[in-house]
Amino acid sequence: MPKPDFWKNNKRYYDLKSYWRNLFGCNVHKLQIDAGFSCPNRDGHIATGGCIYCDGRGSKLRQKGELPSVTEQIQSGKKFYKPHASKYVAYFQTFTNTYAPAEKLRSLYDEALAQEDVIGLAIGTRPDCLGPDVITLLSGYAKKYHVWLELGLQSMHDKTLKFINRGHNFQQFLGAVNVCAGRGINLCAHIIVGLPGETDEEILQTAKAIAVLPINGIKIHSLLALEGTALGEMYKNGSIKIMSKDKYVALVTDILEILPAEMVIQRLTADGYRDIFLAPEWAMNKLDVLNSINRELERRDSYQGNNFIK
Ligand code: SF4
Repeated sequence: MPKPDFWKNNKRYYDLKSYWRNLFGCNVHKLQIDAGFSCPNRDGHIATGGCIYCDGRGSKLRQKGELPSVTEQIQSGKKFYKPHASKYVAYFQTFTNTYAPAEKLRSLYDEALAQEDVIGLAIGTRPDCLGPDVITLLSGYAKKYHVWLELGLQSMHDKTLKFINRGHNFQQFLGAVNVCAGRGINLCAHIIVGLPGETDEEILQTAKAIAVLPINGIKIHSLLALEGTALGEMYKNGSIKIMSKDKYVALVTDILEILPAEMVIQRLTADGYRDIFLAPEWAMNKLDVLNSINRELERRDSYQGNNFIK
């Protein structure tokens, strides 16, 4: 398969920056927002303790004390970019950003969209936190703005979801995708490569399942063992192993080949958390991981979508 012309980039996959330049003709940046949400997988509504890899601390802002308003967070995020040289997407990132009554959500999202040069929303959430009122709200925004809904899946295998204490199953993820389909909402699935107990084939099955769903984007994360998490304890007592870099690079390359060429690649590895980081050491060098994935695609003379099967 030759490289698709519409990517208009120098990469072997369709990255978010290129997608946004194609769509809007300018640079678009995500501005991260912690709007003070919690998570039903931590507060006992669905489960307690949270996902086994989640440190539960929220954003750095939250760790410092009282959260600034959405407006203040957007204004300070914009300072990193040239005034009026860009457009912005307000990224409600921390914890479960649809876990509140629809009127409260409307007020927070409206506040973000009222800021100059903010052209849309990206909202991170769980597939089991999307009631009909939330879907109606989001599809209303999608008629006027650029809207992404980021849905945590991590794996299509229920045995894995149970092991990592996700508190939902694959069927619930499919239900959320179906209810959003055709409403103008762009869906981005989050998956983790290297979850304990998964074979290579099982990991690729998750990619194959996502490839044929009405999903527009993906974030692929490496599994990080962090101090203070259940997974971190498992890593320290030797009951789980963390994937090697070579294996991760090979599997992510396989996944890119499986995904359709139009799917927007929003992330290819996880990073950050330096203060509580345990393993794997290689994940701390994000640029090296990205370069290695690119080199592997070059070595295979391959691109995203090469092995996509409808
Ligand atoms: S759903 Fe997200 S915020 Fe909630 S426990 Fe899992 S990783 Fe943490």
